[in-house]
Amino acid sequence: MTTLSDEFLIPGTNKGIFYGGKFQKPNHSAVIKVLNPAKAQLFTTVPDATADDVQAAVSAARSAFASWSELDSLDRSRYLHKFANVLRTNIASLALLESTITGRSIREMNAQMARIPEWLEYFASIAIGLEGESNVVKGGYVTMTHYESLGPVALLTPWNHPVLILVKKLAAALAAGNTCVIKPSELAPVSPLVLAALATEAGLPDGVVNVVTGGPATGAALCAADDIHYIDLTGGTETGRKVAGVAGERLIRTTMELGGKTPIIVCEDADIEATIAGTLFSAFVASGQTCVSGARFLVHDKIYDHFVEGLAGRAEQIRIGDPLDKATQMGPVISQRSKERCLSMIAQAKTEGAKMVAGAGPLDLPKEFTNGFYVRPTVFKDVEPHCKLFLEEVFGPVISITRFHNDDEAIVMANTGTFGLGVSIWSRDITQAHRLSLKVRGGVVWLNDHHRNDPRSVWGGVRDSGFGKENGWDALRAYLTKKSVIVRTAAGHDDWFKGSARYG
Ligand code: NAD
Repeated sequence: MTTLSDEFLIPGTNKGIFYGGKFQKPNHSAVIKVLNPAKAQLFTTVPDATADDVQAAVSAARSAFASWSELDSLDRSRYLHKFANVLRTNIASLALLESTITGRSIREMNAQMARIPEWLEYFASIAIGLEGESNVVKGGYVTMTHYESLGPVALLTPWNHPVLILVKKLAAALAAGNTCVIKPSELAPVSPLVLAALATEAGLPDGVVNVVTGGPATGAALCAADDIHYIDLTGGTETGRKVAGVAGERLIRTTMELGGKTPIIVCEDADIEATIAGTLFSAFVASGQTCVSGARFLVHDKIYDHFVEGLAGRAEQIRIGDPLDKATQMGPVISQRSKERCLSMIAQAKTEGAKMVAGAGPLDLPKEFTNGFYVRPTVFKDVEPHCKLFLEEVFGPVISITRFHNDDEAIVMANTGTFGLGVSIWSRDITQAHRLSLKVRGGVVWLNDHHRNDPRSVWGGVRDSGFGKENGWDALRAYLTKKSVIVRTAAGHDDWFKGSARYG
């Protein structure tokens, strides 16, 4: 049987934007081109939605809000469990779609996609357990609190994990009784459109999940729409500044999941083989295009040479090629612009005196992929903390390694710069690893592992990496507001102005 996601695997499929439970024709014919980055070829187009299209989608979300938010949480939960089941039956074709459009290897996308329904199941489950409180308080009153949904909310997402990042937000927002308008990245907008249609297939009421496609202007129109009551963005730090500015002006709450420059601290007693395997994954999964990519390695002097040699050797062996081939370990980066940024960081690192220990030499790719946006896994050692490669997000497979001599030096270097998202610490001494975890700046710290993500494991950064949380109860509560109802139980009544008589 052909599924909806199979249909979108056919190049050139453009069904429009999605709101009110169906694909809809946009206001005009302007489109955004979506490329296959492995071949640098056009894959399909999606509408470049205008402010009018955005308004139509927001109106659909508004129309659906009252009945969705008034459902008992048990009933909403049933819808979300059904949505999770439908998603599960579409995993293989969604993985294929994401692999084609993002260039991420099919091996990665199959592994990632298999876990995504868990976010819907988790938020569907915990939302049932959301309870208000009540108190008997001074003076003869009972106060009660209960949670209220916010209204239509805007979810703005990036291209690197199009469905994963979206479902992290969507599951919490829907479980909390909100309706959603999604603006996916212009580079990978197709699987979010399919996801919205799958929500309808799962029986979610029309207008609960809506998607408008387009670039920053479409996103800006959504953030400016009057009836949007929360903005949840995952994207670059500069986008975060703009969007948070708009939200501030409008006095609406936001979550900002932004960029990072994740330090990897490798201590003297680390299990070298295990650390090389784990940190290789941290650096090069998704071609280094995750917000928490292991990017800035800090390695103890005593094991520095051995570790660098081992990591560089393994990086050189990573199999690069067709993302749809199960044997491929790394695909291209997302765009020509991304490739150029990687190449310019590589050139700059060389001029700043860093030594390239992996990534030199030509790529050996089959003919059909020679124009693709491929960058070899690239490792620089002896990178000084003032260098651009040490400080700035590359968002590609280019990493820096720097030597440290003691914990204090490692902490200073890990905390250099303006980001604060992920950190991983590798040590056999759990007391040392824990001490370091308390001193490093970041929102997520892994000890002897990296990248691990779970619906229960709270996620989010500090400083230039943003604010607010995904996952866990924090994410659910962010999508709600607490209302207090105060009941007088004292006998009789008060008369504060008793005895006043202006003309008496
Ligand atoms: P981006 O900032 O270019 O775009 C993110 C989304 O915002 C897109 O949908 C885009 O169209 C939209 N947008 C851009 N300008 C806008 C504006 N002025 N108003 C409204 N919407 C606007 O980011 P990207 O290139 O898609 O993603 C890569 C970035 O995302 C990296 O910096 C990465 O670190 C970050 N990221 C962070 C996390 C996290 O959890 N913290 C996860 C993944 C990616």
